[in-house]
Amino acid sequence: MRRTKIVCTLGPATKTKEQIADLADAGMDIARLNMAHGTLEEHRATIRILNELNAERAKSTTYKHCIGILVDIRGAEVRTEDVKQPLIIHKGEEVVFSFLPRPDEKRQVIQVNHKGFVNDVKGVERILLDNGELTFDLLSIETNGTVVARAREDGTIGSRRHVNLPGADLDLPSITEQDWEDIAFAAQERVDFLGLSFIRKASEVDEARTFLANKKSAVHLIAKIETRQGVENIEEIIAASDGIMVARGDLGAEVPFESVPVIQDDIVMHCRAAGKPVIVATQMLESMIQLPMPTRAEVTDMAHAVMTGTDSTMLSGETANGRHPLAAVDAMDRVLSSTESHLAESKRMENQSITTERDARAEAAVSLAVSTSAKAILVITRTGRTALDIARFRPSLPVIACTDTPSVQHFLQLSYGLVPLQLPLDDDPEQTVDASMAKAKSLGLLSSGDGIILVSDARVRSRTVNTIQVRRID
Ligand code: PEP
Repeated sequence: MRRTKIVCTLGPATKTKEQIADLADAGMDIARLNMAHGTLEEHRATIRILNELNAERAKSTTYKHCIGILVDIRGAEVRTEDVKQPLIIHKGEEVVFSFLPRPDEKRQVIQVNHKGFVNDVKGVERILLDNGELTFDLLSIETNGTVVARAREDGTIGSRRHVNLPGADLDLPSITEQDWEDIAFAAQERVDFLGLSFIRKASEVDEARTFLANKKSAVHLIAKIETRQGVENIEEIIAASDGIMVARGDLGAEVPFESVPVIQDDIVMHCRAAGKPVIVATQMLESMIQLPMPTRAEVTDMAHAVMTGTDSTMLSGETANGRHPLAAVDAMDRVLSSTESHLAESKRMENQSITTERDARAEAAVSLAVSTSAKAILVITRTGRTALDIARFRPSLPVIACTDTPSVQHFLQLSYGLVPLQLPLDDDPEQTVDASMAKAKSLGLLSSGDGIILVSDARVRSRTVNTIQVRRID
């Protein structure tokens, strides 16, 4: 069973129930809806399909993992406005960027959605479109509120294209009016994860959390790191969030692209230390948007993410509007699995610091599982925390995490090596353990005679204590 999880972005290429079911069967663990595209009605229809699939998969007599749902909001980003026809740009051409339409301007006008663009562009040398597909050198900032720049290469600019101002501190609210509507939508639809784009500091995550708490929402917050400030404040952002996404597309346009690998590894390392899930995202299989086979560099990039111990890797355009969505998931599944087998064979022990009793217990459970050649670790976890503690040590055997809350089950689906099951938890710990072992056995995850390590509460006289037990399945 693959331990590194796969997030797939859904879109025009993957919108019917059949297409989404096929993706899940191919290995999609988490479905991502990108609020920068599509209408609320379209997203609502997709969530309905995912809920139906989850209900069907939960009734399956063999194990079928649940599909977590991630709604990814736009955040404080600059985009070009809608155009009737894509603008054709030639290398060396002088163009005008402007917030307002400029019908009298003779040069081509690239209209942007950010009123403060003319101020924020000060001190910036380059303007990037579509994460660097087109680059413009800044020439002048005019008093009429326009910005003149020269194209470095040929290209076209369609509607709502991404605009990056590398190094700028954008004077935009961290969460825009549109985002608040999308966050309310995510809460109403009771999705599992909310991706918060362009997070620069922890207080922005706190703001979203307060808003959601007022709506009594249990959605888990994934902070997307895609700016220099986000990188600088990474530790406080990890502490405030439920998980992190290394959003390499924008990140590679906001900071020099050669620093992305080091930043990625650093964020993965910090997330692991904190026991928070981390997703490595964007351009993992970019060539497969067109072609049926990955480049060798893409294969190596995915393997690298596994070797550093990421929880999850993500597909964007590859599954949303690519020509080979299933082949892309299949390729990712193969590379992740193959790299994990190699790591397990080489018995690379993962060093993690042990500073609390919780850490010590998790580490003890994993080393006991290895030394007794257990088939799995079975953990009873109401909030998911104990399961995440164990995942931190990246065991090379499945960690069956039993919880009573569907949103916790779906949240755990993102994390390395966790096989989350949902079932009622009894007040009597031993009843819960019996029911959990029976469920894992009936789904084919465990068989009679299998040795397991059990991490659960036990009743000792009238007190409840935490235990790690060596057990065998009846
Ligand atoms: C990214 O920039 O890498 C990313 C994941 O964000 P989005 O796809 O929302 O632009």
